[in-house]
Amino acid sequence: MAEAPVLEDTERTTGRVALRKNIAAAMALSGAVRSTLGPKGLDKLLLDDQGRTLVTNDGVTVLETARVEHPVARMLIDASSAQDRVARDGTTSAVVIAAELLRNAWHLVLQGIHPSTIVRGYRLAESEAMTHLESIAFEGSDEELVTAVHSSLAGKSSRGVQERLAHLAMEAARCVERTVDGTTEVDPTRVSTVHAIGRPATDSEIIEGLVLQKRRAHPDMPRLVENGSIALLDGGLERRKMRSDVTFQATSPEVLQDLRRREVQRLMEDVDAVEAAGVQVLAVSGAIDDEAHRRLLDAGIQAFRRVPSSDLDLLSLATGAKVLHHVDALQPEVCGNVIESRAHMIGDLHHWTVRGEGPAATLIARGSGDEITEETSRCFDDALGVAAHLRKDRRLLVGGGAAHVHLARHLRRFAEATPGREQLAIDAFADALEVIPRALAENAGLDPIYALLDVTAAQAEASEDAARIGLHLDLREPTDLGQAGVLEPLNVIMPTVSGATEAASAVLRIDDVLWARLEAQIPDDIQAQLDAMGEQDA
Ligand code: ADP
Ligand code: MG
Repeated sequence: MAEAPVLEDTERTTGRVALRKNIAAAMALSGAVRSTLGPKGLDKLLLDDQGRTLVTNDGVTVLETARVEHPVARMLIDASSAQDRVARDGTTSAVVIAAELLRNAWHLVLQGIHPSTIVRGYRLAESEAMTHLESIAFEGSDEELVTAVHSSLAGKSSRGVQERLAHLAMEAARCVERTVDGTTEVDPTRVSTVHAIGRPATDSEIIEGLVLQKRRAHPDMPRLVENGSIALLDGGLERRKMRSDVTFQATSPEVLQDLRRREVQRLMEDVDAVEAAGVQVLAVSGAIDDEAHRRLLDAGIQAFRRVPSSDLDLLSLATGAKVLHHVDALQPEVCGNVIESRAHMIGDLHHWTVRGEGPAATLIARGSGDEITEETSRCFDDALGVAAHLRKDRRLLVGGGAAHVHLARHLRRFAEATPGREQLAIDAFADALEVIPRALAENAGLDPIYALLDVTAAQAEASEDAARIGLHLDLREPTDLGQAGVLEPLNVIMPTVSGATEAASAVLRIDDVLWARLEAQIPDDIQAQLDAMGEQDA
């Protein structure tokens, strides 16, 4: 059959050739982040097109920053981003496992197993894996939860900072916990961050309530308001300007003066409305004109101007006040309540702390410079995401590959009991999971094959708690890693395995790739992978 004309400008690869190229792309991508995995993982220096640099060892950051155009590589990046969204951790693992599942699938394809058989075997293995992981998970104590948050920061920042941030993240998660319809909700978006340059990062702290880097509109306004009413206005207290598309000619100076007078008068009416609604604290996103200043000051109102709209939203969550777009809508009912609204200094900068009925917390990220506080707050965000999940589900697994090795051993026994060719795929799946302990060992400068053999043997010999035994990267021998403080939430490990399976299956199901001809070149690193994979295009 003749090729449809619609395909004229496209490069087409089908069947095995397409699969081979796609798998090579996945492996090239995984190769780019694998060396960052774990506490001994190396950092990547990212450089954007404006010359800004970022040093990170966070898989998803590397992947999301890199300009990757290969569609299959993008599928893996999406899996990593999805992992970030659901668990806030495990992003590198998800990609590395997905690529390994694909690599092992390729070996099966070379042996004549059809990709759809592999997909079926992978699905069986995945569902068995979920059951097994749940069966070896345990409820963490408060202390163990902090440890798990601490482990999630492996490789990021220094140990002292990690430990501090793990505690702060749990504290912040507790501050913003609410019970809604009988279920616990922890909303990390209610935690904001303020950067304070000066003291070391380990002096970072959590303040209950919302802290904004703002000074009150006039130093004579009250410093502290307790149990007061707050109004939020997305706009300003300014003279209302004439629309810019209106032109007019004044026939005499009096006309102009009269106009100005009327502008001021309307502004005063706006301020009257604020006073009449009983407002004691006012935040506006726009400016406050001088005339309005004086009136607010006389009325004893604590006012803040140029508060960004995003902060107004946070204030709204914290105090229950509605964000108004116009003073005319101001009524006592749309105001919120502050338990405390305090203007104070942090270091030599003015800050405003608001505590209302709604849960809120703020991280004061300290450090000697912008880069450090940025890094601190990025690490804290990750830690907070993990902490928030852990307050809802306390189940943990032992990390460092211990749970993965245990799972792989279990799946091999499961494979033996599974009839048909799917058995081979389940074995390949078990092998793929072991990429985690192998990569962790490799990144620590250890021999990955021996490391894995040692751990597997130690687990097989252990009479109990075998799933806690993994390779201690400093002692360089199999150890109870749970005791050593390497703990991970069940809800980080489970989605890495299911997400990786999903991404790998999706890639395996592709057997036709149509490239717009312009983009048809294969990037160098993928070509290198192809060369390493052996089989020639045919
Ligand atoms: P990811 O993006 O997948 O979370 P990380 O670079 O954070 O990648 O590495 C996570 C892996 O490192 C997990 O398997 C975790 O169990 C392991 N890990 C963390 N701390 C240690 C440790 N002290 N010893 C061994 N493994 C560790
Ligand atoms: Mg991590």
